[in-house]
Amino acid sequence: MINRQTGMREGIRRWAGAVVVGVALVALVAPMPAPLVERVYSNGVYPFIERALTTASGVVPVAWLDIWLGGALGWLGWVWWQPVRVSHGSRVRAVGRAAWRTVVGAAAVYLIFLLCWGLNYRREPLSARLVQDKPVPDTAAVQALGELAVRELTALHDAAHAREWPGPAVDDARLRAAAAHVQSLLATPRVAVARLKPTLLRWVFRWEGVDAMTNPFGLDVLRNPDLLPFERPFVAAHEWAHLAGFADEAEANFIGWLTCLHGDVRAQYSGWLFLYWQVEAELPPAERASVAARVPPGVKADRDAIAARLTAGVVPVLQQAGWAAYDRYLKANRVESGVHSYGEVLTLISRTALDSRWRPVLRSGDAAAAEASGP
Ligand SMILES: [Zn+2]
Repeated sequence: MINRQTGMREGIRRWAGAVVVGVALVALVAPMPAPLVERVYSNGVYPFIERALTTASGVVPVAWLDIWLGGALGWLGWVWWQPVRVSHGSRVRAVGRAAWRTVVGAAAVYLIFLLCWGLNYRREPLSARLVQDKPVPDTAAVQALGELAVRELTALHDAAHAREWPGPAVDDARLRAAAAHVQSLLATPRVAVARLKPTLLRWVFRWEGVDAMTNPFGLDVLRNPDLLPFERPFVAAHEWAHLAGFADEAEANFIGWLTCLHGDVRAQYSGWLFLYWQVEAELPPAERASVAARVPPGVKADRDAIAARLTAGVVPVLQQAGWAAYDRYLKANRVESGVHSYGEVLTLISRTALDSRWRPVLRSGDAAAAEASGP
């Protein structure tokens, strides 16, 4: 009787495991229409999931990802301890069982990832709701953007540095208000925003040159402890765009930059400094030197401090391995350009129609929605 019950339980468990793996495989390869994902997930259930998870993570002082990783490693250790402790004769069977459990566990993690945040990779591009009436930028247009950034940085530098920068957690009411304002301008559902938490992965962030990350399993934001004060507002705004369901890196950069422009002078300075850095990375040497020649000493000192922070912290081999892994991760999530999607922000900024107050012009249907949800 006991044996039969145990056998039944084992059968149900195997059947349930096969269902989880099957559903995960279908979710991995099945085409999903972007308009459907946009309506049902990104603008439907995701804002509720985000609000619940981010609010819950807000009351926990440690990073959810650290707890998740600790739990996952502990579970893996337990699963693979089983083949070690059984007698030699039944070891092959035990190894097979452990391997199958690992596959089921990975499939379950993938489904949780998709449900909590990952499906946002499959939504419609942000450009679908923006008026984009300008051409794809050429070198001259990128250079002009760099020169604009330098003019703004020059004008903002002293005022931004005269005030106290937000602390490492970026628990800043003005920046939060700016994020909510930009979400309403983009006709996207309001979401919570999170303070930037420390993480046990800080060394990995430092070695790989990662500024921060949004944990897709707990929707909290983890920070690199070395971020400089004037980097913090933009980094927080970029991660909050991820929390708002914009998984694409170029879109998060664009929304982060816009958020900064709608914040106070410190946030504006941080946003323009990000843009200048991005322009520098994209321009050919002659044009880069021409823009750099206009940068005043105070701004140059800040730019050089960021470069020095990265040089001191990064371990090149680990950085390359980390970014190669992230490139594969993005491509697996249907972002064809991989890590190059970061730089596409310049195209997004150059092509999008922005009014005199840095408000993006939306296509008519979305503009009506923005009006309705306006501040
Ligand atoms: Zn990002």
